Amino acid sequence: STPSFKWRRVLLKVSGEALAGDHTQNIDPKVSMAIAREVASVTRLGIEVAIVVGGGNIFRGASWAGNSALDRSSADYIGMLATVMNAIFLQATMESIGIPTRVQTAFRMSEVAEPYIRRRAVRHLEKGRVVIFAAGTGNPFFTTDTAAALRCAEINAEVVLKATNVDGVYDEDPRHNPNARLLDTLTYQEVTSKDLSVMDMTAITLCQENNIPVVVFNLGQPGNITKAIKGERVGTLIGG
Ligand code: UDP
Repeated sequence: STPSFKWRRVLLKVSGEALAGDHTQNIDPKVSMAIAREVASVTRLGIEVAIVVGGGNIFRGASWAGNSALDRSSADYIGMLATVMNAIFLQATMESIGIPTRVQTAFRMSEVAEPYIRRRAVRHLEKGRVVIFAAGTGNPFFTTDTAAALRCAEINAEVVLKATNVDGVYDEDPRHNPNARLLDTLTYQEVTSKDLSVMDMTAITLCQENNIPVVVFNLGQPGNITKAIKGERVGTLIGG
């Protein structure tokens, strides 16, 4: 039976920071279990879920390059490897509660995960498996937000759901202005012209060019992942 939800196939972006929660280690097992449980509940409804994981909780290339002997490309490769660690953690968590999950890496690590093969990823999704895309785009100088936009376009997912530690996009920085307003909707144009730090330019432009809406929402609020995937109102919707 065809599910009667807004989205049929979604791309969930989980940043490294979100995975870390408030745990002192790099990953908070409570956060990854919460993600697994909510994703399980929607895959049972027939919605196909692909995930791109970040790595900022372990290593962020840009913040190392420049102030050390590490060149940017090497730093970024370490960052991409960090996303693989998160992906394997998340996969193990999902499988511990019975969700069949495949990790595909943007560069080969065949003993650890499948290489990224678009058609194979789509086949996994059609069979009800969750696919976690790791190692970003496989290229230095990019981000996992751009990987999320790219994979979303490639596998014909309908939306990028960006799980963060904030409730959505504000008109001003809520850390500096207590009167900052949470915005329900935004155009791509507004995001780029007002320089709202939602996603980097490459990622948001890729979404705009391919008419991929982006929902920015707080992963820390229980039930939000389920809502976002089912297409219920949550966070900020960027489109148009
Ligand atoms: N990275 C990269 N190419 C990509 C994706 C990621 O080089 O296509 C590297 C980059 O160094 C980045 C790190 O991997 O800092 C971790 O990814 P990101 O910062 O996007 O993770 P998040 O902020 O989502 O935790």
